[in-house]
Amino acid sequence: MTVQTHLIATTTSYAVFAYLYRKGINIPVIGTNRLTIYPLLGIPTAMAGAMLPDVDIENSRVSRKFPFLSPFLKHRGVTHTLLFVAVCYLAMSVNYSLNIKLIISAIFGLIFGILMLKGRFVFLKALVIAGAFTALSYAGDEVLPSLLFGMGFGWLFHIIEDMFNKKGCPILWPLTNKKLHLPLGPFLVRTRTWQEAVFLIIWEGVNAAILLIYMNVLRF
Ligand SMILES: [Zn+2]
Repeated sequence: MTVQTHLIATTTSYAVFAYLYRKGINIPVIGTNRLTIYPLLGIPTAMAGAMLPDVDIENSRVSRKFPFLSPFLKHRGVTHTLLFVAVCYLAMSVNYSLNIKLIISAIFGLIFGILMLKGRFVFLKALVIAGAFTALSYAGDEVLPSLLFGMGFGWLFHIIEDMFNKKGCPILWPLTNKKLHLPLGPFLVRTRTWQEAVFLIIWEGVNAAILLIYMNVLRF
């Protein structure tokens, strides 16, 4: 799938989820406490998570932003496993010192800025976003876990979307490197064809339906 498809599909699903759980959601994490996060705070990192797995494609829009990474990665390899989703989940349960919390939030802001901004002085402009993320994180303890939640969600949805594609993803790694796709037979989607457009239209329609059912506009 192209980066546009991933960004639109994932952001839509995340926005619907964030709206449904706008009052916060309790996440069971490792350790004793349940963690309350506010998904709306994680929208920028969900967008970043939707794009980042394709840093493994040489000369893609994402890998050009982080050119030092793609030579080490093979396409649909480790970034298309559940490793980073698991890392985000596990990182939510850690009790960070203030400094570490602010540094991680700044890094998320920097990554989001670099991915989204175009033109000149991208790094400098991204530093401003990093500053805003840091300030937000300083203001509230729920900010960093919400950012991590968004990142993990976005990353997971990228992988799910790629599984509609014949190439599939090695989601059972490290058990096996085999790339698995959904059992859709002739309905598997080929990237950059009309099928990808149809996939996106259906995806958006399903998300809109979920929202309308929840809002009691659509009834069965
Ligand atoms: Zn991908």
